[in-house]
Amino acid sequence: MQPLSAIELLRVWEEGQGEPPYRQAILLLAAACPEESPEEILSLSIGSRDARLLTLREWTFGAELTSFTACPACGERLEFSLNVSDIRFPAPEAKGPGLHLALDDYSLDFRLPNTGDLIAAGRSSEIGQIQRILIERCVRDARRQDEPMAAERLPPQVVEALAARMAEADPQADTRLALSCQGCGHRWQALFDIVSFFWSEIQAWAVRILREVHLLASAYGWHEADILAMSPQRRRIYLGMVAV
Ligand SMILES: [Zn+2]
Repeated sequence: MQPLSAIELLRVWEEGQGEPPYRQAILLLAAACPEESPEEILSLSIGSRDARLLTLREWTFGAELTSFTACPACGERLEFSLNVSDIRFPAPEAKGPGLHLALDDYSLDFRLPNTGDLIAAGRSSEIGQIQRILIERCVRDARRQDEPMAAERLPPQVVEALAARMAEADPQADTRLALSCQGCGHRWQALFDIVSFFWSEIQAWAVRILREVHLLASAYGWHEADILAMSPQRRRIYLGMVAV
């Protein structure tokens, strides 16, 4: 994986605007990992995908993340900031051969969900149906008392244990922040989604940088590609001169 230049990031932003988040994630990683095929990127577990996006975010905008949320108890708006290292979790337990779960009479071989699975499941809007598609795709072998069985007939407690085991085995896929409200003292956990977080930053950055291109191109007649190729420091100095 390599960092993205301003020109590459702008191209990804242009292509990903209005697309679903999984597609935005894939566009970012396809641009940053040109040595890998789209199939390889689609088959990364969600946690591995998000770990890469976290690294790419660090290379692009730095290690500090700042965001806003509202306290679910009193509604107070609060700002929180954290470091990329605070939400970096260990790599998934198993890559190739897969994972195993034994519960009661049941025994399963399965792999971790990836973006390809989310795309397949995303075509449905019904939770039960989404779960069934994920199980069908990720469970490689299901047995009851050693007899092979269809994965869609697994009882709810086994499905629940499977979901918990998947989250445990791929911790980056389920990133939660421990938050507390200074107003009322309420404590809660919030899911952190690197894809939407990073994409909204890219959106704000793109609008800002296009405005900078506009100002410099208008003032000096330079080409867009040349302005984008400048370091941010150099751009800022020229912008300061234009403003004067
Ligand atoms: Zn509160």
